[in-house]
Amino acid sequence: MAHLVLSVKEKPDKVMCEVCNTEMYEKHCKLICPNCGFKWDCSDH
Ligand SMILES: [Zn+2]
Repeated sequence: MAHLVLSVKEKPDKVMCEVCNTEMYEKHCKLICPNCGFKWDCSDH
């Protein structure tokens, strides 16, 4: 069962990596996990 944090409309202050639960950072409309390198493309903007 997958529950995505980004499914909410308003942008949350912090997004946790769903792989390793590390706080991700945003760069060029992408969310990147500094720990495992997991990337999240926020192309729905
Ligand atoms: Zn991660």
